[in-house]
Amino acid sequence: MEQTLSIIKPDAVQKNVVGKILDRFETANLRIAASKKIQLSKEDAEAFYAVHSKRPFYGELVEFMISGPVVVSILEGTNAMSLNRELMGATNPKEAKTGTIRADFADSIDANAVHGSDSLQNAKEEIAFFFAKKDIC
Ligand code: GDP
Repeated sequence: MEQTLSIIKPDAVQKNVVGKILDRFETANLRIAASKKIQLSKEDAEAFYAVHSKRPFYGELVEFMISGPVVVSILEGTNAMSLNRELMGATNPKEAKTGTIRADFADSIDANAVHGSDSLQNAKEEIAFFFAKKDIC
């Protein structure tokens, strides 16, 4: 059984579509093993996206991620990491396949509704970034 980290980003929380997005995960047989709504600090967002710190959009990305609360969840199931990436769709919603979360709920490449771990190693690290063992069941 695999686990991956999902973040419903500030744009989607602001649009009040948290339930609709979580429903996509459950409908695809992913189980929510932990979930919480939080406001990221600038330090949190910078640390979480440290891998992108040299990219030109890093500052914008950090500002966007702290612009409002997010919902962070652990999704569990068979092939959870790649299945979640499929459900999310391409980073740029204009390129995302019909029926994906980003095609249906995202407006732009920065306000793109969801984050999902992109490797099993990153999933492990991202889960540990947000959740203690006792929060996961
Ligand atoms: P993801 O794994 O599909 O989320 O994409 P990446 O890991 O490549 O990028 C992380 C996040 O940075 C994306 O979800 C976007 O929110 C943001 N991002 C990526 N590329 C760009 C870009 O060219 N411009 C801006 N403004 N944001 C970007």
